[in-house]
Amino acid sequence: MPNLTVLLLPGDGVGPEVAREARLVLEQLAPDVELAERLIGAAAIRAVGDPLPADTLDACRDATAVLKGPVGDPEFDAADVRPEQGLLRLRAALDAYANLRPAVLGDVDVLIVRELVGGLYFGASGVRDDGTVFDTCEYHPDQVARVVRRAFALARSRRGALTSIDKANVLETSRLWRRVVNEIAPEFPDVSVEHMLVDNAAMQLATTPQQFDTIVTENMFGDILSDLAAAVTGGLGLAPSASLSDSGPGIFEPVHGSAPDIAGRGIANPTAMLRSTALLLEHGLGRPDEAAALARAVEHAISSSPTRDLGGSASTAEFGAAVREQLALTAA
Ligand code: NAD
Repeated sequence: MPNLTVLLLPGDGVGPEVAREARLVLEQLAPDVELAERLIGAAAIRAVGDPLPADTLDACRDATAVLKGPVGDPEFDAADVRPEQGLLRLRAALDAYANLRPAVLGDVDVLIVRELVGGLYFGASGVRDDGTVFDTCEYHPDQVARVVRRAFALARSRRGALTSIDKANVLETSRLWRRVVNEIAPEFPDVSVEHMLVDNAAMQLATTPQQFDTIVTENMFGDILSDLAAAVTGGLGLAPSASLSDSGPGIFEPVHGSAPDIAGRGIANPTAMLRSTALLLEHGLGRPDEAAALARAVEHAISSSPTRDLGGSASTAEFGAAVREQLALTAA
């Protein structure tokens, strides 16, 4: 068996604090996995002037999976070289096109699959001579097909219901999206498909999120809807994500940012980072049993040792210790 390597990118702000807990959990749960660490974001700008240094990118490419903390620092808000550029470059360099955003709480269990490296965020933009500013949204059918196929496969492994979200009554790219979904559907006869317009989808997600199983949508709609889904299932501080490519390593990271307002105080909630670690175990290392054990241990710690954002008083380290203790108990 080839060596499995996880590259840890602690990032900025609360990143190193929550990354420490993820490292300790991985060391306990998967001691055979090699762990390495590199700089990204503001920490990398300070060290070498680049938010994604060449040696970080090389190490990411060589890893089995990448576990990333948040990046961002108010010091660089107005700078030309910004921490967040490192993240966008990393996603594009690894072609991590399928962004998985699970949102689970009570009877709600929805998986949003968002296209991550195309559409409005990657199209041509600029300013014309007359002062008009423009962004453009473009999709090639192949770009749509690969993420849609991945979403069908994920829906098949869940409850078998896929909702494709678009704005086909207005946008040409959405009409392409809908056509590609319909063309691929016969490959997955055991998965039911429904199309929903994005404005209606936002309302349905806010009011009756339990109706959804798996959702697939383009980059900007997915960006907005996945934050909405996170909000209705406990908030951004709890939400993990996985960004997967076809053959290279995936990127696993919390949805929240670097939380500069609480950084350095040891009170950040490591739940999103630990849930991202569970996604890494499942999708990055192919270890669903360890992933499920970690997800259960995190659930347990949320009720036994809640951090301040959850109304409790546990520190980041105390929450992490509660997770590891629970893992040890269930493994015994
Ligand atoms: P944020 O997510 O960092 O913080 C929003 C609020 O949530 C803050 O009050 C913060 O204290 C709280 N919060 C966030 N994570 C928490 C945690 N783990 N435990 C407890 N509370 C938590 O969003 P922001 O303030 O808009 O952004 C701060 C920086 O992060 C910016 O530079 C932004 O660009 C960056 N950012 C990075 C990513 C990423 O790396 N993927 C994502 C979003 C924002």
